[in-house]
Amino acid sequence: MTANAQKETLNFQAEVKQLLNLVVHSLYSNKEIFLRELISNASDASDKLRFEALSDSALLENDTELKIKVSFDEKARTITISDNGIGMTRDEVIDNLGTIAKSGTREFLAHMSGDQKKDAHLIGQFGVGFYSAFIIADKVTVISRRAGLTSEHGVRWESNGEGEYTIANVDKASRGTDIILHLKEGEDEFLNDWRLRTIITKYSDHINIPVMMRKLPEMDEKPEENAPVEWESVNRATALWVLPKNTITDEQYKEHYKHLAHDYEEPLAWSHNQVEGGNLDYTSLLYLPAHAPFDLWQKDKQHGLKLYIQRVFIMDQVEQFLPHYLRFMRGVVDTNALPLNISREILQDNPTINKLRSALVKRILDLLEKIAKDEPEKYATFWQQFGTVLKEGPAEDFANRAKVAKLLRFASTHTDTSAQTTSLDDYISRMKPEQKKIYYVTAETFNAAKSSPHLEIFRKNNIEVLLLSDRIDEWLVNHLAEYEGKTLQSVAKGELNIDEIASTETEKEKEEHKQAEEKAKVEFDGVISHVKTILGDQVKDVRISNRLTNSPACLVSDENDMGLQLQRLLKAAGQDIAEIKPIFELNPEHPLLLKLKAEADQERFSDLTHILFGQAILAEGAQLKDPAAFVSRVNKLLLD
Ligand code: ADP
Repeated sequence: MTANAQKETLNFQAEVKQLLNLVVHSLYSNKEIFLRELISNASDASDKLRFEALSDSALLENDTELKIKVSFDEKARTITISDNGIGMTRDEVIDNLGTIAKSGTREFLAHMSGDQKKDAHLIGQFGVGFYSAFIIADKVTVISRRAGLTSEHGVRWESNGEGEYTIANVDKASRGTDIILHLKEGEDEFLNDWRLRTIITKYSDHINIPVMMRKLPEMDEKPEENAPVEWESVNRATALWVLPKNTITDEQYKEHYKHLAHDYEEPLAWSHNQVEGGNLDYTSLLYLPAHAPFDLWQKDKQHGLKLYIQRVFIMDQVEQFLPHYLRFMRGVVDTNALPLNISREILQDNPTINKLRSALVKRILDLLEKIAKDEPEKYATFWQQFGTVLKEGPAEDFANRAKVAKLLRFASTHTDTSAQTTSLDDYISRMKPEQKKIYYVTAETFNAAKSSPHLEIFRKNNIEVLLLSDRIDEWLVNHLAEYEGKTLQSVAKGELNIDEIASTETEKEKEEHKQAEEKAKVEFDGVISHVKTILGDQVKDVRISNRLTNSPACLVSDENDMGLQLQRLLKAAGQDIAEIKPIFELNPEHPLLLKLKAEADQERFSDLTHILFGQAILAEGAQLKDPAAFVSRVNKLLLD
C-alpha cells in the first residue's frame, strides 16, 4: 500500500475549530499540560484494551505489556507519545479527532465572547483533551491502528489545527496510537529529556501503566553505534488509590483528579476509602469538582464513576453507583466483589452494586457535611456550583432525605440577600419559642419572593421566612414535608395560625386582634360576596386576610392543593394538570379596601376588583391572562 492510500482532506466541525482556538489561547501560560492530556488519553486507551482483551485475548497480539513511550527528536523538532492501547479505526479517528460528540457543545461555545481573557475560564468547564497538542505544536500527526485489525489498517491523520485535516491509510505494524507533535517556533524547551521527565513525574506519576523514556547513557559511557534503544519507566505506574492513604500527598491527589476527570482545574475536595474484609471489598476515590461542567444539565449526558474490578478498568461513567442528585461527583471504584466479566446490563439491580452505591452515597454526604462544618467558604463555592443539583436529593433519595436536607442552603429574610447561605439548622436555631414550623415562600424570582405580600405579617412579627426562587424549589419542598420534627410550611398556603406567628403579642393584644378580625369579617361580608360574584370561577374562594399589612390583597393556595409555583412549573414542563384555583385574600385595613367598600358605582367596583386581583397575580411573579384588559382598567381609574 502506498503511504497516501485513500488520502482525503476534511474540514473540522465548526465546534472543533472554536474549541481549538479556546484551548490554544487560554492555556499558553500553562503549556506543559499538553503532555498530561495526551498521556491521559493514552492511558485510557490502554485501559480500554485491557478490558476488551478480557473477552478476546487475541487483541493483545503478543504485545501484552501495556505502556506509553515518550520520545523526542531534536533535529526534527518533534515529540512523540506512543501507546499500545486500543487504537482507532479510520472512522474512529475522523469521529474522535474531527468532531465533538458531546451534546450541548454548540450552545456552550456560543457563550464565547471573543475576548480571550474572559473566555479562558470556559475551558475549565469543558476539559482540554487532545487539542491541547496544538498549544505547542503547529502540526500534529496521529498514526493509529485499532487492536485486532491487520497492519494495513493503520490510519494517518494530520493537521495544523486551523481548519482542515488530512487522513490516509497507512501500514502500522504495532497496535495503538502515536501522536507526533511538530513543535512551534520557540517551544524548543520541551526538546529536553530532563524537562519531559519532570513533567511526567509531576502530572503522571500515578497513572496505571508505565510511561517510558529512553534510558540515558551513564556519564562516562559512550553509546555504541546502533545499539538497541533501552527504555526505562519514568513514573511509578501504580494506581494512586491502591497506595496507603498516608503516603499520598495532596498534590498527588489533585494531579490524579486532573487525569481522571480531564479537568484543567483542581478539585475542591476528595474522599479516599479503602475497605477490606467483610463481604464488600472496595476502594473508592471520590472527587468533588470545583466547578460545574457545561453539560451538567444535559439530559442525555452520562455521569458516573469509573469502575475497576481487581485493578482492571471495566467501564466509564457507571451511573448505577451514584444517584442522579450526586451526578457531579467524579472518581473511581475498585472492587473485588464483582466478577470481571460484568456487563452494563448486569449492573442494573445487582445487589453488590446496590450495596456499593449506598456506601458511596454515605461517603459523599459525609464529605459534604464535613466541608460544610469545617470549611464554610469552600462549601459556599460547592453550593453555588451544585446546590440546585443537590436540591433534587430529598425527592430522589428517601433514605437519605434528612442527611441531604441538612446540607441544603437557602436565601432567607434573615439576611434578605439572594445569597443562599441559611441552613435549616440555622433557621431552627433562630425560631421563636412558640414557633413550630419552618416557613418559606416560593416565587419565580428572588425579588418576587423577597417582596411577596405573604411576608408582611412575618416581617412585622420578626419571623424568618426562607425565600425560595430556584425552579427546583417547589419540587424540593413538595418532597420535604418536615425537618427535625418541624413541618415546612408555605406562607402562601392554608390559613395562618396567628397565635404562633404573633408570639410577641400579649394575650390582650391577641384577643384584640381576634376581635378586629371577626369584626372585619362581618363588615366586609357584603364586599366579599360581591367580589366572589365578579371573579366567578377564577377563584376558589375570597376571604379576609390576616397575613397582610401593606398590600391590599394576595393569592393563597388551599392547604392541600398544589402550590401556585408548582402548578406553573408542571405546566411549563408540558404536564396536563387540572387548574387549581387560588384563594383571594383581602386586607381589610388597606385604604383600597375601604374605597372598595364605599364604592357605589357597580362598574367601578368591578374594575377595582379586577385590578386588585391582577395585582395579586403580578405580586406572585406570575403572568396575567389578559394584560391588555388590566392596563385599560388601570388607565380608566387613573383618568377618573
Ligand atoms: P476526551 O478524552 O475528553 O474524550 P479528547 O479530545 O482528549 O477528549 O479525545 C477524543 C477522543 O479521541 C477520546 O475520547 C478517544 O476516543 C480518542 N483518543 C484520543 N487519544 C487516543 C489514543 N491515544 N488512543 C485511542 N483513542 C484516543
